[in-house]
Amino acid sequence: MAITNNRLTAEQYEQNFSDIHPPFDSREAALVDANRCLFCYDAPCTKSCPTSINIPKFIKQITTDNIKGSAYTILDANIMGGGCSKVCPVEKLCEGSCVFNLMDEPPIPIAKLQRYSTEKAIDHKWPLFQRKPSTGRKVAVIGAGPAGLSCAHVLSREGIDVTIFEKERKGGGLMTYGIAAYKVTPEFCEDEVNFITSLGGIEIKYEQELGKNVSLADLQANYDAVYIGIGVGVARQLAIPGEDLAGVEDAIRFIYDIREKGYPSVPVGDRVAVIGLGMTAIDAATQAKRLGAKEVTIVYRRTQAEMPSTEVELNLAKLDSCSLIWLASPKEIKGENGQVTQLICNVMELGVPDTSGRRTPIETGETITLNVDMVIKAAGQVPFEDLVDSNQLNNWKGKIAIDSNCATNIPGVFAGGDCVNGGKEVVDAVQAGKDGAKAILGFMYKERASE
Ligand code: SF4
Repeated sequence: MAITNNRLTAEQYEQNFSDIHPPFDSREAALVDANRCLFCYDAPCTKSCPTSINIPKFIKQITTDNIKGSAYTILDANIMGGGCSKVCPVEKLCEGSCVFNLMDEPPIPIAKLQRYSTEKAIDHKWPLFQRKPSTGRKVAVIGAGPAGLSCAHVLSREGIDVTIFEKERKGGGLMTYGIAAYKVTPEFCEDEVNFITSLGGIEIKYEQELGKNVSLADLQANYDAVYIGIGVGVARQLAIPGEDLAGVEDAIRFIYDIREKGYPSVPVGDRVAVIGLGMTAIDAATQAKRLGAKEVTIVYRRTQAEMPSTEVELNLAKLDSCSLIWLASPKEIKGENGQVTQLICNVMELGVPDTSGRRTPIETGETITLNVDMVIKAAGQVPFEDLVDSNQLNNWKGKIAIDSNCATNIPGVFAGGDCVNGGKEVVDAVQAGKDGAKAILGFMYKERASE
């Protein structure tokens, strides 16, 4: 058994990481689905979209070939509507609420239609938005992820000059670095960031990290307001013996490397165990398989009824021939010559529900042993507690505390997205960015009125 990279041919990588949700192959195909929409007056689809995209409106615009109008309707509500059409868990959001589900018929493929319009806008660089003349006001945004970009776009449209400080070499945050490459390509992410900044008035300074190259105090001194959208944090450790053996990797790093270094450069084992069953775990497991792992086993300490991923996500893993072991919790990782050889798991059973309502797993005293050469940990993320504490931001174990107006305890400093909510969907972060921008505008206008 061995962990190696470059396992497949260029064609195989290309095939394994090709777009999982292909777009419509013709205008006619899009029109057929758009014309199925009932344009419901109460639009349950819109109500279940965190960014409240007017879904019947944009679909209606497609039926009349008003694609620019359709793209505007989507992107005005969600400037990352292109990326969200590829990564949103639509089965539990818009498409899950479509009335066709009540009639036992397939829901309108809202995401695919959304992609139809937004991809055209991004590909053709349509100048859908104009910014108002500069007000002379300046806002610093920390983090060029979905929350930061969304906040910056709203502010810039209002004539605010925005500077984004991003610790990575590219913008997009979770979209660019944290999602399986077969769902959204790095090239698309770059195009989407460029589309957003093409509005003007938004400068992104890359490789600028809060606490290293940038200080909150300096930003406060040099800008009228600051918005923090730094994402959720670092991978949670398992705190079990053997975690430091070669071949133990965290899922966030694994996914990041695939996106940053390219498929052939990322080593993968023959027999891989993935610990956890959230979206990150599924993305890591499926990509390990697509990189050439022979066997991938997902280990989860509860049952399917409690899993955090959706059934659609779970089916992705099953379609990639990943195995699942329910009710198993990692106990120890064993190795030889410093390299992983086995994962020992406690066999669990479910006890009484905890405060979240999910039944608590309890050890049965039995164990199972998996012979593996790679263990990928996807047991959640913990917020940047030290960073948040050192900046004297009120927080709950690293999750930044804000009031109903997106304001932190420090005047003029606002926050939103995963660093506040602990990690939700991209679309939630986009809405948080809009809310933050609205709050910042209110703050600055209030300041101006009192000057
Ligand atoms: Fe169209 Fe379905 Fe939304 Fe009704 S619920 S407006 S049918 S997408």
